[in-house]
Amino acid sequence: MKDPVCGMEVRENLGFKSSYKGKTYAFCSANCKQNFDKKPESYAKV
Ligand SMILES: [Zn+2]
Repeated sequence: MKDPVCGMEVRENLGFKSSYKGKTYAFCSANCKQNFDKKPESYAKV
């Protein structure tokens, strides 16, 4: 699974996760998760 913020490949079990529009996103760090949570619409584009 890819970190949508920085593009790094991350493991889902790291614990940094957010849900947006029914999808779960995983992050490499709390920092990336925070960025996503601030502006999910700008990162969640596929
Ligand atoms: Zn990241």
